[in-house]
Amino acid sequence: MSDTEVIIGLEVHIQLTNLKTKLFCSCNSDYRGKEQNTIVCPICLGLPGSLPVINENAIGYATRLALALDCKINEEFWFFRKNYFYPDLPKAFQISQYNKAGGKAFGDGGHITIRLDGEKKEISLDRIHLEEDPARLVHKGSIASSPYTLVDYNRSGMTLIEIVTNPVMKSPEEARDFLNQLKSIVQYTGIADLDLEGSVRVDANISIKGNPRSEVKNINSFKEVERALKWEIQRQRNALKRGKELIQETRHWDDKRRVTIGLRTKEFEKDYRYFPEQDLVPINIDKKFIEEVKKELPEMPNARMKRFQEQYQLSEFDSEILVLDKNLADFFEKGVQQNKSFGLDDYKTYCNWLMGDISRWLNDNNKNINDSKLKSNQLNELIMNINDGKITGKIAKGFVDEMMKGNSISDIIKKSGKKRIADEATLYKIVEEVLKENLDIVKDYNGNPRALEALIGKCMQKTRGQADPNVTRNLIKKKIQ
Ligand SMILES: [Zn+2]
Repeated sequence: MSDTEVIIGLEVHIQLTNLKTKLFCSCNSDYRGKEQNTIVCPICLGLPGSLPVINENAIGYATRLALALDCKINEEFWFFRKNYFYPDLPKAFQISQYNKAGGKAFGDGGHITIRLDGEKKEISLDRIHLEEDPARLVHKGSIASSPYTLVDYNRSGMTLIEIVTNPVMKSPEEARDFLNQLKSIVQYTGIADLDLEGSVRVDANISIKGNPRSEVKNINSFKEVERALKWEIQRQRNALKRGKELIQETRHWDDKRRVTIGLRTKEFEKDYRYFPEQDLVPINIDKKFIEEVKKELPEMPNARMKRFQEQYQLSEFDSEILVLDKNLADFFEKGVQQNKSFGLDDYKTYCNWLMGDISRWLNDNNKNINDSKLKSNQLNELIMNINDGKITGKIAKGFVDEMMKGNSISDIIKKSGKKRIADEATLYKIVEEVLKENLDIVKDYNGNPRALEALIGKCMQKTRGQADPNVTRNLIKKKIQ
């Protein structure tokens, strides 16, 4: 429906957490979990007379990201002052970049490919730029009702890179996939760990075609973005349905109440009184520097995905999901390179385990594969035991938790006392019992394949997952006939 077409643009702020020091001073950037207001100096506190000096590694990191996103790097630029008055900003201006009035962004253009329901779409970027992070404001409960605000300057002066998309996304799902792909690219470049608390902040511009847009500020995790977008789209649609006129405004995402709240009407760019930062020299990035960064850049997810399809005969779908998390993809490559020594020669089974039961365990336990004790060879050993007929797939699934805790496969098998039962005489007795106990399912059997699966399931239960499913299936069919 064209009259309710949704238009979304994102501004994603990423903290370059892998830098050792802040953007303009030598304070340690590892501020998380430290006592408040202890990792500060005159520069990041904005004391009068202090002078900022650019962190060269921040330029290197920004160059990596610009190359990975295919931006055109502006080799010469000034930093700009963005003026606003707020307790998180002691200087009353933020050192940032500006792409007007003679100013330039760090990189212009660029794009990220997203895939939704098997369809590819290019999300074009407007620009990326460097800026300093303001201090952290802490509210008691909700921002709207908090009786006071606390300020922690440890975060003040951390390096942020802002990625600004064009308003080309049409749904919260597209935005979610964009952010997943961006997260993956950032992980591959090695500039930040976006799983760290507060390392990501997103502002989202949302409008229904033909109406003023609202800007939802400070969405503090990628997961919250989709939720905030859905809520805001619904709010705008409801307002229009009731004949209300929307206004251009800034809204705050309250992640506790899960609603957006109107905070103020939007500031306009002129309110920020941008002007060049005279305390910093202009930045010149030479071509040789860019070439060196390029040489050190690892293979990016898109290229890796294509290689996985060719080298390991994985489907486009499998390789796409597998490469998304660099650690999981590294684990896969290490594992399948060792699989010959286990007499295995297919890559797909290994991939299925990683994407299925193991990813599920990682999700449930909120862990990354590198935080688990799983070794790549353990998975080869598990698959080998299934292939050799020692255990069933069902038994193996029950071993995942122990395996992820680092226990050896042979120990797990021994301790469980479980093995595959394929002996027909043994299984026949079990099948007879199950059929007798489940006459209603047996009645249902004619022409209903689900009834057959249910009966196999009952046999599995009786044998604690040890019955070979194929032998069991044949025996049930035979017995019922
Ligand atoms: Zn400092």
